[in-house]
Amino acid sequence: MKKSLFRQELPHIHNIVVKIGSRILSGPGHSDRIKSLTKDIITLQKNGLRVILVSSGAIAHGMNSLGLQNRPTTIPLQQACASIGQNRLMSIYENAFKPYNALIGQVLLTWDDLRSKKRYLNLRNTLFQLLSCNVIPIVNENDSVGTEEIQFGNNDMLAAQVALLIQADVFVNLTDVGGLYDKNPQTDISASHIPIIKSFSASVHNFASDKKKQISVGGMATKLKAAEIVSRAGIFALIGDGFNQSLSEVLNNQNSATLFIPSERKMSSRHRWIAFTGHAKGSIIIDNGAVRAIVEKGKSILPAGIKNVYGFFKAGDKIEIKTENGQTIAAGLVNYSAEEVSLIKGCKTSQINSKLGRKSFDEVIHRDNLVLLNP
Ligand code: GLU
Repeated sequence: MKKSLFRQELPHIHNIVVKIGSRILSGPGHSDRIKSLTKDIITLQKNGLRVILVSSGAIAHGMNSLGLQNRPTTIPLQQACASIGQNRLMSIYENAFKPYNALIGQVLLTWDDLRSKKRYLNLRNTLFQLLSCNVIPIVNENDSVGTEEIQFGNNDMLAAQVALLIQADVFVNLTDVGGLYDKNPQTDISASHIPIIKSFSASVHNFASDKKKQISVGGMATKLKAAEIVSRAGIFALIGDGFNQSLSEVLNNQNSATLFIPSERKMSSRHRWIAFTGHAKGSIIIDNGAVRAIVEKGKSILPAGIKNVYGFFKAGDKIEIKTENGQTIAAGLVNYSAEEVSLIKGCKTSQINSKLGRKSFDEVIHRDNLVLLNP
């Protein structure tokens, strides 16, 4: 898509992840919304962009098939609905893209697939291969085996992970409101739309969490969390109205979406996995000198600065780094097991050999494998 088709604040875009909420894809009018979405995605593709869809809607279509009016309250029935509805969803997409001769590929995944480094890399390879074959990958949670998104995330966090994984330039979260408002637009006609958030501060989350003032609408909390994660990894995020507006409007019309400008420059793939995806197997507490060394001077973590060790981790695992006050300040891949770190904590580097009978590394976590959180 030509630069003029995007809001002026957006950079030149190559890779885009679009998450589509269930409401857009089901209920009255969904055929027209899907038609419009498909047309816009094809336009993006024709303009050289690589598009990945993260699509909800399986449960909604499964409910429809089973004649259920309300979303089931039990997880197994939600999973059964997803199993029935996923086929229907894909056949809707298949038919919508057919007139353009565009190919789609289904990718179903769980959080365990993302947390395992091996499966994460396999997934990354598959997505990039599909994109280079000009195929539009359509991703959803594999709800029959994983339930994190249907319980907590509504696919928002999964979509953010996909954006991190393919190092998207922009992550678009299509929902049924045009992003953030200073008051609840459904109950207060004086509510003003917020077209842009230039940096993510804690107060941004108040737009979603301040239920008393009804400042925002339901479900915004996870959308904000997803926008925050991608923006900290250097990716632009849009939360926009895909229900009443089209994808192209969300991309270029200030009134249809809120744009989040990334706070950081793009992180490397390994750093993104360490910071936002991998599961921490334990933690270490470091003293104030070591905190200053990693935060202010970008140094590695040496045994001397380590006060305590928690958890059962192996060399190569992801662990968290905490201050003596218990604040998590970083995450990293550790060079020694928990048992070994317990033996060398507080020691000089020159003592590692005598304590362990070998010295594979000077550093417990090398600076290249360390990512500061909440800088
Ligand atoms: N995987 C779910 C679906 O496709 C996500 C959305 C939801 O929890 O409703 O329906």
